[in-house]
Amino acid sequence: MTPETLQLLHEGAAELGLDLHASEANFGQLLLLLQEGNARFNLTALKTERDIVLKHFVDSLTCLRGGHLEGTLRVVDLGTGAGFPTLPLALVRPGLHFTPVDSTRKKVDFVRATAQSLGLENVEPVAGRAETLTRQPEHREQYDRVVVRAVAALPILAELALPFLREGGLLVAQKGPLSQEELRAGQRAAGELGGQVTEVEPFSLPVLGDARTLVIMEKQRPTPAKYPRREGVPNQQPLF
Ligand code: SAM
Repeated sequence: MTPETLQLLHEGAAELGLDLHASEANFGQLLLLLQEGNARFNLTALKTERDIVLKHFVDSLTCLRGGHLEGTLRVVDLGTGAGFPTLPLALVRPGLHFTPVDSTRKKVDFVRATAQSLGLENVEPVAGRAETLTRQPEHREQYDRVVVRAVAALPILAELALPFLREGGLLVAQKGPLSQEELRAGQRAAGELGGQVTEVEPFSLPVLGDARTLVIMEKQRPTPAKYPRREGVPNQQPLF
């Protein structure tokens, strides 16, 4: 990582109240592994050091806003792609145990290999679709948190994520700007699935200033057994 990019990483982290000096070598290694992975499998659209550091690393760390990811928790990362937000979060929160999930096996293989190279024992990736995994007793209503970034609109996320959560668990959804229409649909879907939207926090991405919203949904009752619907249906026919 160039000194300029490293400076941006520290600046972005400092805006979030984080000091990354102890883990800067790990973030440097993650950058290299991602660039190598990109050259082989075209994993993410972001290619420059600056974009990867600000729009993947710092952006992923914004999930820590609000203090919902502290202590020892079992966390699913729904639709992790090349490992975001899991990998940056796992580097700075060794007490959290992450299960990054993705339907694309090559991405899950990359996340597993990368976590191993970084010595992250708190990351155990799983390949599969949320609709199918949440029908399995080892995944249904077993987790304290679901984190998600850039996967789907709020009502779809509610159907895919809430079945993973135990009662009292939280969905931490990191989104761009959020319309009132999407929020209303998400609130209705959460109610149908045993949850409720408890926080909506607009904020700006450190350094770049892009608009972001952190949406928190709390699981309050068991999700009805008919949810989630079969693979693909939550996306094709959102509940609300
Ligand atoms: N979260 C990552 C990030 O922020 O860079 C990746 C975002 S990417 C746009 C969305 C990912 O979600 C894709 O890798 C896709 O395979 C995965 N995905 C979408 N629907 C899914 C589902 N129902 N179950 C599991 N993975 C899903």
